[in-house]
Amino acid sequence: MTAKIISGNEVAKEIREELKQEVADLKEKHNLVPGLVTILVGEDPASVSYVTAKQRTAHELGFHSIQDNQPADMAEHDLLKLIDQYNGDPKIHGILVQLPLPKHIDEGKVLYAIDPRKDVDGFHPVNVGKLMIGEPDYLPCTPAGIQQLLIRSGTKIEGSEVVVVGRSNIVGKPIANILLQKREGANATVTVCHTRTKEMVSHTRRADILIVAAGKPKAVTADMVKEGAVVVDVGVNRIGKTPEGKAILCGDVDFEAVKEKASAITPVPGGVGPMTITMLMMNTVKAAKLAAGIS
Ligand code: NAP
Repeated sequence: MTAKIISGNEVAKEIREELKQEVADLKEKHNLVPGLVTILVGEDPASVSYVTAKQRTAHELGFHSIQDNQPADMAEHDLLKLIDQYNGDPKIHGILVQLPLPKHIDEGKVLYAIDPRKDVDGFHPVNVGKLMIGEPDYLPCTPAGIQQLLIRSGTKIEGSEVVVVGRSNIVGKPIANILLQKREGANATVTVCHTRTKEMVSHTRRADILIVAAGKPKAVTADMVKEGAVVVDVGVNRIGKTPEGKAILCGDVDFEAVKEKASAITPVPGGVGPMTITMLMMNTVKAAKLAAGIS
C-alpha cells in the first residue's frame, strides 16, 4: 500500500479562503475587523521569519494587524506593561508573544499576563483548563491544525485508537485532550507515549491514527506502524543545509518506509507546519466574534 499524502498546504489554503470570506462578512455586517498583534522581542532569525509569516497571513485575510518589534534588552516589566496596553485595546482581539523570549524574561509570567480572551495561542492556564473540562474557547494552534487535517482528509476519528508519541504542553498533551473530547471530530480512544513508555511499539502498532511529536528524526519506523494506519508527523528537524544554505528538514517519522505501510501520511515540510498559522488566524476571528458577542 502506498499512502495518500495529506497536504497541509492544501487544507490550510482551503481554511484561509473560508476565513477570508468570514472576515469580509464580519466587516460588512458588523463593522468588525479582527485585530492581531504579534510581539517580537529581539531579532532571532527563526522568530523573525515566523512573525513575518503570521503578519503576512493576517494582512492577506483582511485583519487589522500590528507587528510590534521590541529590542532584545527590553525589561520584563516593560513587556508586561505593553501586554497590558494591548489587553485594553478594543481593536486588538488576539495577542501573540513570539517564543522563545530572551533569557532575562520569564515566559510563564508573560503568558499569564495576556488576557485569556485574547490568548489566541491557547497557552494561558485558563484556556488550558477550559480545554481540559471540554469547554474550550481556543484550541492551541498546532494540535488544532492536526485535528483539522484529520477531519478534512476524511479520517474516521470517532472510536479510533489514537496513539500520540510525545507529551509536551504545546503538542502531545493538547492533541490527546482534543481527540478525547466528547464531541464531533473527536471521541477517540487515546494513548500517550513518551521516553519512559515501556515497549512503545506495542502501543504504536495498535494505532489507527498515529501522531508523532517527539522532535527526533526517524523516531517512528515502519515496523512500529500498523498496516493502513493514518500517520501525522509533527516533527520539524533540521538535518543539514543545501549548497544554497537553505535548511534541510525532516520529520519524526521514517517517511519513505512508513508511506508504504500507512493509508495516509502527512509530509514534512508541507504537512502540519502550514496549519499552525492558519489556526492562529481562526482563533483570532473567534476572539473578535466573542468580544463582539457574535456566535
Ligand atoms: P518537546 O517539548 O521536545 O517534547 C517531545 C516529547 O517527545 C517529549 O514528551 C518526549 O518525552 C517525547 N519523546 C522524545 N523522544 C521520544 C522517543 N524516542 N520515544 C518516545 N517519546 C519521545 O517537543 P514539542 O515541542 O512537542 O515538539 C515536537 C516536534 O514537533 C519538534 O520537532 C517540533 O519542532 C515540532 N513542532 C512542529 C510544529 C509545527 O507547527 N509543525 C509546532 C510545534 C512543534 P519525555 O516527556 O519523556 O521527555
